[in-house]
Amino acid sequence: MRVRFAPSPTGMLHIGGARTALYNWLAARGSGGSLVLRIEDTDRERSTPENVEQILDALRWLELDWDEGPFSQAERGPEHADAVRQLVDSGHAYEDDGAIRFRVPDEGEIAIDDVIRGEVRFPLGALQDFVIQRSDGTPLYNLAVAVDDRDMGVTHVIRGDDHLSNTPRQALMLDALGAGRPVYAHLPLLHGPDGKKLSKRHGAASVQELRETGYLPEAVRNYIALLGWGDPESTTFFSTDDLVSAFDLGRVSRSPAVFDEQKLRWMNGRYMRELPVPDLRERIERRVGRDVPEEAVAISQEKLQTLADFWPLAGFLVEPQPVDEKAWEKVMTNGGPEHLRAARDALAAVEPFDAAGVEAALRAVVERLGVKPKDVFQPVRVAISGTTVSPGIFESVAALGRDETLQRVETALQRAGAPSA
Ligand code: GLU
Repeated sequence: MRVRFAPSPTGMLHIGGARTALYNWLAARGSGGSLVLRIEDTDRERSTPENVEQILDALRWLELDWDEGPFSQAERGPEHADAVRQLVDSGHAYEDDGAIRFRVPDEGEIAIDDVIRGEVRFPLGALQDFVIQRSDGTPLYNLAVAVDDRDMGVTHVIRGDDHLSNTPRQALMLDALGAGRPVYAHLPLLHGPDGKKLSKRHGAASVQELRETGYLPEAVRNYIALLGWGDPESTTFFSTDDLVSAFDLGRVSRSPAVFDEQKLRWMNGRYMRELPVPDLRERIERRVGRDVPEEAVAISQEKLQTLADFWPLAGFLVEPQPVDEKAWEKVMTNGGPEHLRAARDALAAVEPFDAAGVEAALRAVVERLGVKPKDVFQPVRVAISGTTVSPGIFESVAALGRDETLQRVETALQRAGAPSA
């Protein structure tokens, strides 16, 4: 099996493109075949080196490697011109006002065997003779694709449904060139949860955006692999090795698949929870660009759905965070400072200063003051984190350590205008 991923570098790698890349990769890896990367850069105005780099970057981030390439389609002008000449010589193409047109038979039909859609028939009467080379000598897109697929020995063309209408033209040219046709597999479109074609409105649309949102590449691979393949409602966990062995092009559905970012988010959270803490820590550190204590990662792991969730939740364990005024108002009225002062005195005496010791001390304060647990815990939380959302309060206080906790509590008492004595 020789497959190819053939992106046009006219923008970012979109989620649909990422799925096409992944299915090609799975097909190659599962069959011991090869994946060729071909950059379809014949549109010289819209294809930029930056776009090419972005696409390669996105593939690398997804950990989808290729065996050959990247090849530039635009650099294959001589091969394309040769094929045009061959088609003219054999009478399959002719000159028209300086351009070259492919001659489509007037009658009959062409049948395309598609692994996903079955046999698709196109009446030839509906296809006009089409231009394959402009009068300036440059090839047209369909010619370049057919010639490159032939020369690169592509056995299976796996691509988006939006290319189905190109297929009869490409197949006609391959037939005329005496080259065998590849097996075709056209993947169903991606829709958003509202049933409309997937677009920016539905949230992250490109691989770069998924990365920025803080998803893990293995979770993205898993989720995207399910789009159109297997059970449409499933959120099944597949390791990449399992995906490689289970993937089957023949089981791709022909109806549109739904990309639901909420499902991806949920699945990503599951992946985050299963990561060994040192691994998660490394990824978080790479994202926030600084060192993060291992304990901060360990105690927040359960609450993280994406890498981006770490800083707002647990950044206070790395350095003091700005105070959220609303949270402050809510918590520091009605005895808040007084409870905080009692908590401070109790925490000053905790030995050893670990989560269990902190819990016992704070619960004793609750008991003694005859208040609700949150009347004590929330002021402490706001004092150390600036907000009312954090990992477990006892673990957080213990992770911060006695000195830092007491210092932040002192600062909060002063801010509240409550003298510390
Ligand atoms: N270059 C086309 C695209 O990016 C893909 C062509 C193909 O796979 O045949 O949509």
